[in-house]
Amino acid sequence: MLDKKKFYINGAWVSPKQPNDFKVIDPSTEEECAVISLAGIEDVNDAVSAATKAFETWAFSSKEERIKYLEDLYDVYKKRWSDMAEAISLEMGAPIDFSTQLQAGTGASHIKSYIKVLKEYTFEAKLGEHALNNNILHEPKGVCALITPWNWPMNQVCLKVIPAIAAGCTMVLKPSEIAPLSSIILAEMIDEIKLPKGVFNLVNGDGAVAGNTLTSHPDINMISFTGSTRAGALISQNAASDFKRVSLELGGKGANIIFKDADPEAVERGALRCFRNTGQSCNAPTRMLVEKSMYNEAVERVKNFANSMKVDVATKAGDHIGPVVSKTQFDKIQTLIQVGIDEGAKLVAGGIGKPDGLDKGYFVKPTAFADVNNQMQIARTEIFGPVLCIIPFETEEEAIAIANDTPYGLLNFIQTQDQEKAKRVARKLRSGMVDINGAGLAPDAPFGGYKHSGIGREAGKLGLEEYLEVKVVSGWND
Ligand code: NAD
Repeated sequence: MLDKKKFYINGAWVSPKQPNDFKVIDPSTEEECAVISLAGIEDVNDAVSAATKAFETWAFSSKEERIKYLEDLYDVYKKRWSDMAEAISLEMGAPIDFSTQLQAGTGASHIKSYIKVLKEYTFEAKLGEHALNNNILHEPKGVCALITPWNWPMNQVCLKVIPAIAAGCTMVLKPSEIAPLSSIILAEMIDEIKLPKGVFNLVNGDGAVAGNTLTSHPDINMISFTGSTRAGALISQNAASDFKRVSLELGGKGANIIFKDADPEAVERGALRCFRNTGQSCNAPTRMLVEKSMYNEAVERVKNFANSMKVDVATKAGDHIGPVVSKTQFDKIQTLIQVGIDEGAKLVAGGIGKPDGLDKGYFVKPTAFADVNNQMQIARTEIFGPVLCIIPFETEEEAIAIANDTPYGLLNFIQTQDQEKAKRVARKLRSGMVDINGAGLAPDAPFGGYKHSGIGREAGKLGLEEYLEVKVVSGWND
């Protein structure tokens, strides 16, 4: 079993002030695979003071210096790619091939993308020809608290740590206590590139103590959080009293509108996108809205697709899906599947219980419900498991109304070969992102949501600007 009890504070690996062991569980086997420590208030305070001290100089580091550190980090990341993939696979159950290509891959992709963004970014500019002595400065926001979940661990961590470094901020990262191993590897990489001490600090810990201490700490200037809507609301309350800047990436309940003129792969592509990562993605299309005239055919195709999906342990090579992350998540998903049955939705694939032959591990059957009404709990709650709801619609207006009738607004999907219709619908969807025909977002496209899906954007130029304040100086003559 791995011993990972130390925190990375002020450029060194340090033991917690008070031991408070926490077991990391391998979701494929339900066995302990590592032990970490949960930070107490003093550990968090030490990390914040290291970041506060480092900000005095790091804030004035040059763009070239920061580019060089990120380039070095990218090289080390590529060297340790397989360590990263294995850590993610172990801590949260992503099958090793998926973990290597996508889970670990997104971390590398964000580093690469932010190097380009930083190279192209102008931190100082004139207001305009009409006011040449008004200079606009984009300056780092300060000391950042970065809090991340377990579902796409390196994706979410790199979407925060990398732009924070690029902007000249210093930071304390608190990854999910359920999936902390990948962040420990990232901290080792940052140690290897010799980023100035105190710029990046890592504490492990839970939400109640470490998360709460960080987000209410008076020396924290900015909080970037990804996770549940519940925790996002609590964090916002902590931030409000001293006006900390807050960026929130919360849940989703994406609609995938399939019109009758959709391409032949649209249904299977949508189901796969829902079940991928065992349904543990905030941007998954978990509500499949299907035009009435092809509804029965689509239900049959989803049923066949779900039944053909393989489920297996994370260590095996292949394109199967793995377990869900924890017993808590497993129980929550089982309860919601039962709720769907009790609400009268038609179970067409999967259901309660584990797949055959997988008695140990948090495995869930790929599950699909047809004849779902958008007011049912399974259509409104973010289930965060491989559970798809299929909802019929008759007109374009009705599809838009159903898609928008949710507290969330992260990513919606449209499937049609009529580009004009696709664009018309895309404009009317109340979400931060819309995907037409599975085109996919570029790595630097702004990622974020409307409504309860959050505040702010990650990735690309807008993602960098989340970490920057704007200052105007008049009387600045060149
Ligand atoms: P969570 O929001 O409780 O935890 C996410 C992170 O926030 C973890 O690092 C956790 O320690 C921390 N945290 C929790 N409470 C906090 C608080 N009060 N102050 C500061 N930090 C706090 O998420 P979870 O319990 O791991 O999952 C619960 C549900 O959240 C899931 O079922 C899913 O619906 C949703 N979720 C969404 C995303 C997403 O990407 N949008 C990611 C993970 C979970």
